[in-house]
Amino acid sequence: MVKAVVGANWGDEGKGKITDMLGESADIIIRFQGGANAGHTIINDYGKFALHTLPSGVFYSHTTSIIGNGVALDIPRLFGEIQSIVEKGVPMPKILVSDRAQIVMSYHKNFDAYEEERLGGKSFGSTKSGIAPFYSDKYAKIGFQVSELFDDELLKEKTVRVAEQKNVLLEHLYHKPLIDPADLYKELKEYKEMIEPYVCDVSLFLYNALKEGKEILLEGQLGSLKDPDHGIYPMVTSSSTLAGYGAIGAGIPPYEIKQVITVCKAYSSAVGAGAFVSEIFGEEADELRRRGGDGGEFGATTGRPRRMGWFDCVASRYGCRLQGTTDVAFTVLDVLGYLDEIPVCVGYEIDGKVTKDFPTTHLLEKAKPVLETLPGWKCDIRGIKKYEDLPENCRNYIEFIEKEIGYPITMISNGPGRKDIIYRNK
Ligand code: GDP
Repeated sequence: MVKAVVGANWGDEGKGKITDMLGESADIIIRFQGGANAGHTIINDYGKFALHTLPSGVFYSHTTSIIGNGVALDIPRLFGEIQSIVEKGVPMPKILVSDRAQIVMSYHKNFDAYEEERLGGKSFGSTKSGIAPFYSDKYAKIGFQVSELFDDELLKEKTVRVAEQKNVLLEHLYHKPLIDPADLYKELKEYKEMIEPYVCDVSLFLYNALKEGKEILLEGQLGSLKDPDHGIYPMVTSSSTLAGYGAIGAGIPPYEIKQVITVCKAYSSAVGAGAFVSEIFGEEADELRRRGGDGGEFGATTGRPRRMGWFDCVASRYGCRLQGTTDVAFTVLDVLGYLDEIPVCVGYEIDGKVTKDFPTTHLLEKAKPVLETLPGWKCDIRGIKKYEDLPENCRNYIEFIEKEIGYPITMISNGPGRKDIIYRNK
């Protein structure tokens, strides 16, 4: 049985916490897309961790953590992350890396930075982790697959071919130092040393695991609105953030995904550029940012302050629909306890007309939020375990949003810890 944990919005919804929590009963946890450009924050008995590459299952000794073929594999980052958790006392996790995953090269990171520099003020707000150049190369068929590290002849020939192609851009577009194929070859040999113990035919491993009835969790990065096809193109990421892609990025049949748990945060936040209809500014935003998440809404990878906004029902309904949501996990609700009133975005006004359907980017740029204001509950809801014990206004907020988005909220997270969760049977 396969469950997917994915985001409904712009990312940072609290997927790490939900995956960590559901990991308790999972045998295998898989990252199926994205790279080290976003992070999950996890708080457990070992401490507080920001994971960028490792799946959130690494803290359990009973789970196997897998980096699927769909991931942008940053080998030194993965290596560093394994070391850092082991140093903090976490037992060495069981990790497998797909032999079909492709490798983020040092030049991908350089190209990412060069392109941001070239675009200046028109940049996409990249984290410069090399993700866009990596996926471009993957689909241009000049990427390095993990399996290729074990074919020396191929590496010698391909490093020359790749350097030739990259050097045209480096010389004429970016005016930066050229790549020496010998350095590329050396880099790849180092990566081989680091990754060799983990390499595995992951789709075969999962095929067997499914036959044995194992429970598998797919862990998504970012959210629906950052999907390259269905998100706010071009302010999107470079790999699909949707549960459907989990089948491809892990190598399992699509029909095995029985549950899609879409994580929605009780308010909105976004990083990077792009339309953000329910965005708030000034002191109102600063206060929510300061109180948000666990210790403030600042990027787990970059430390950048996140853009803040009220809950957006239009974006979330769309985000849940594209994920194929079976369950919504509604997170970070405890943070809103300070507000007298809580605005919620229930529609978009575009050219004088109100819609509840999420539009394509050029229309989205024109959208103004239609807000409805709900009464706050003005107390701390942390520690509450039963839905009935939540204050009435808090339940009303949840039920209002559930009706607007049209998908069942079956989990409510009222704190950053593993145990801060309220299950609700629907
Ligand atoms: P992810 O990328 O989707 O995993 O999200 P992030 O880890 O970037 O952001 C979630 C932040 O909120 C982290 O700092 C979590 O520890 C924290 N968090 C998750 N759930 C809750 C919750 O219910 N309440 C509070 N206060 N913080 C939470």
